[in-house]
This record gives sequence, C-alpha cells and structure tokens, in this order.
Amino acid sequence: MIICPKCGGSSTEVNTQKPRQAAYIWRSRTCKDCGKTFSTREYTLEDLGKLINEDSNLVADQVNDIIEDLSELISNHEKH
Ligand SMILES: [Zn+2]
Repeated sequence: MIICPKCGGSSTEVNTQKPRQAAYIWRSRTCKDCGKTFSTREYTLEDLGKLINEDSNLVADQVNDIIEDLSELISNHEKH
C-alpha cells in the first residue's frame, strides 16, 4: 500500500503510468485526503536481477537512480 508522504493517508489515486525503457514502473499519485501529488517507483526483483546481468550505459544510469533513491531513504531515516 502506498502512504501519502504528507498526511499519511492511504487513499491515493494513480494519475499516469508511463511506459518506458526502465527497470522500474514510475507512477504519479495524488492523495485523495490532502491533494498532495507525489511519484513512486516500483521495482521488481526480476528487473533488478536483469540490471545486474546486463551491461550498458542505460542500465548504469538506472542503477545510479536506484542508488540515489536508497541514499535519500537513508538520509530521510537519519533525520527522524
Ligand atoms: Zn495526503
């Protein structure tokens, strides 16, 4: 379940689902409770496995994206 980062509500609406060459599904969501718009990326273990097996600049970019996400999660966690 996706939780709103602003109010913590669980009623979110998916606005778009962009088909793209990426190892994750990107979605824009709007919170039905407070109206906050935010985006999510969803990774599957299968796709992450493909990233490890493939070798290209595109894949390297996506791995960097994932590392950035993880860094952000860690820094947000440390603030609490
Ligand atoms: Zn909200």
